[in-house]
Amino acid sequence: MPRNPRYDILFEPVRVGPVTAPNRFYQTPHATGMGYLRPESGAKLRGIKAEGGWGVVCTEYCSIHPSSDDSPFGFLTLWDEDDVRSLMPTVEAIHDHGSLAGVELWHGGSHANNRLTREPVLAPSARPALIPQPGSARAMDKADIKAFRAWHRDAALRARRAGFDIVYCYAGHDYLPFQFLSPRLNLRGDEYGGSLANRVRLLRELIEDTHEAVGDRCAVAVRLSVDELHGPRGITSQGEGREILAMLAELPDLWDVNVSGSLGNDSRSARFSDEGFQEEHVAFVKALTSKPVVSVGRFTSPDSMVSQVRRGIQDFIGAARPSIADPFLPRKIDEGREDEIRECIGCNICRSANNEAVPLRCTQNPTIGEEWRRGWHPERIETTAGGPSRVLVVGSGPAGLECALTLGRRGHRVMLAEAERRLGGRINRESTLPGLASWARVRDYRLTMIGKLPAIELFPESPLAAEDVLGLEAEHVVLATGSRWRRDGIGSLGEEAADLGTGQILTPDDIFAGAEVGGPVLIYDDEHYAMGGALAETFRRQGHEVRLATPAAMLSSWTVMTDEQFFIHRRLLELGVEPLLGQRLAGAAEGVAELACTYTGRIRRHDFGTLVLVTGRMAEDGLYRELADRAGQWAAAGLRSVTRIGDCLAPSSIADAVYAGHRWAREFDRPPAEIVPRRERPLPA
Ligand code: ADP
Ligand code: SF4
Repeated sequence: MPRNPRYDILFEPVRVGPVTAPNRFYQTPHATGMGYLRPESGAKLRGIKAEGGWGVVCTEYCSIHPSSDDSPFGFLTLWDEDDVRSLMPTVEAIHDHGSLAGVELWHGGSHANNRLTREPVLAPSARPALIPQPGSARAMDKADIKAFRAWHRDAALRARRAGFDIVYCYAGHDYLPFQFLSPRLNLRGDEYGGSLANRVRLLRELIEDTHEAVGDRCAVAVRLSVDELHGPRGITSQGEGREILAMLAELPDLWDVNVSGSLGNDSRSARFSDEGFQEEHVAFVKALTSKPVVSVGRFTSPDSMVSQVRRGIQDFIGAARPSIADPFLPRKIDEGREDEIRECIGCNICRSANNEAVPLRCTQNPTIGEEWRRGWHPERIETTAGGPSRVLVVGSGPAGLECALTLGRRGHRVMLAEAERRLGGRINRESTLPGLASWARVRDYRLTMIGKLPAIELFPESPLAAEDVLGLEAEHVVLATGSRWRRDGIGSLGEEAADLGTGQILTPDDIFAGAEVGGPVLIYDDEHYAMGGALAETFRRQGHEVRLATPAAMLSSWTVMTDEQFFIHRRLLELGVEPLLGQRLAGAAEGVAELACTYTGRIRRHDFGTLVLVTGRMAEDGLYRELADRAGQWAAAGLRSVTRIGDCLAPSSIADAVYAGHRWAREFDRPPAEIVPRRERPLPA
């Protein structure tokens, strides 16, 4: 299909200092969890972004010196010539597709932990480290500042030797140059502290140094947090953020601006932000500079992108998460296939990968992070070698939908059976929770793509028993029959079953099925992800008195990994949900729950109208067991394999269910020896 002329503007080249980007699609720096330990994985991932049409593809944060070490998290390094060699394949992979390669030079200052290098942590002023730990950062003296400038300059020269086209000065996300800008973190009395002009001095020098070192061939970009969302005590887009920009307006070749304070503000999940949510903070920038501007805002709609450019908000369309969910987003717009964009749902599972120090993963894109390790490409897939198989997929949640779609793309003949009238499984339920409507994109993208593949037949309202399955002449059966919430109170911290008697004791499944909820509501969350907090919000908004009990020390504790915990906890407090922290459910009956302190065991009693147990899920594997019992009849029915995937095997995240469905469809007909994932490991020099 030809490109819709409405989107032509997105494909205009943009000049950035001495280089020119082929279009306006700009993959801003984002973590991959790969870092310097997995250079081949990183190169492959970035190359695929360029192949997918991103005109600029940047690396993740790249440390300039051992005094900025973020171990055990996945960060890059440009400390020496080995690092130059290690990054060259990334640059080449990006250049192979005509895109520009950017590198985000990074010094964390008191935000680095230096666990590996054991170098003392540096900061503008002596202060406790910004990542809670027993250590403090030491104040940089003039010699340290001079050394820091030299490290940055040397790293920029190495970046140029590696072939990068855009070199960043990184004054965002609470890292060292930003710490100098911040009146909260910079308490110096010399010419690098005090007045704003003094606090800006170091960033100005960095930009000048970088220009002088590499500006003949590389563009110098500045990533600046124009608002750290700390209110008037911090840098704000109405106050000093604007002044900094005005002072340095024409100095860099490109402005990459965002809100931060923490990464959680910048990559806020869909629960707490809409597409384009940064606009109110960054919109002022273009009026102050003639240099190209890029920002982010989880853009997945080409019309929103065009609007950003036409209204003069930014020159590029900056994207991290949308480029993870769909590395081929620009190509799809270019080829008139906007309906095929796999839109980011804003769940921040990608952030959890970085926070857990493992390679990138994504709910929408099962191939991300597997480009090198398993050789998966987001758009290309091997068609079946030995002729099509006839596969029955039972269950149309994320695992079943992705499995059916991927089988269909490979040329297999697929029957997808679903008990319910609507396809989508848990997505249909969870996307009705407050702020989670965008999760429906997991279902909708797959249904759109399945609709284009006639080899996939859909059978809604078809609850299958073993007898039915054996009569369908399938060669392979994939059971993606999902899970149900536990009723016994066993959770990840509580461990033991609670002593539960009669009374209004429900699970999320009961709630979604329409069970009557009478207040006061007590939710017991020993699962620690989204469900407990989201239900608390729902019931509170319905006007119920709500208490949210958990054996953890904070509400929705695992959402620290998705950078959402602070926002969830704050929202629940603001709504008037009463947190009961460090409390294990010991028992409940007749409207009274007994909660035991996780430290002392002391019991407290709480009255409830409804108790909701959010403690974990059990595989819905009855059909599997029925079929296993009748294994002797498989051959006669032409059935060669029965496999459980997703929640039906081991209940987990939607991301894991999608991944399981994808993986089975890619691998089921290949010899096991061919599907061993590769591992990057350092070899002796
Ligand atoms: P996952 O996250 O693993 O994809 P879900 O719970 O989202 O799992 O989806 C499982 C789907 O399987 C549900 O929509 C459910 O109705 C369907 N299902 C479960 N058992 C059967 C069955 N025997 N026949 C047809 N569909 C089933
Ligand atoms: Fe978007 Fe979620 Fe994928 Fe991250 S994990 S890119 S937020 S869909």
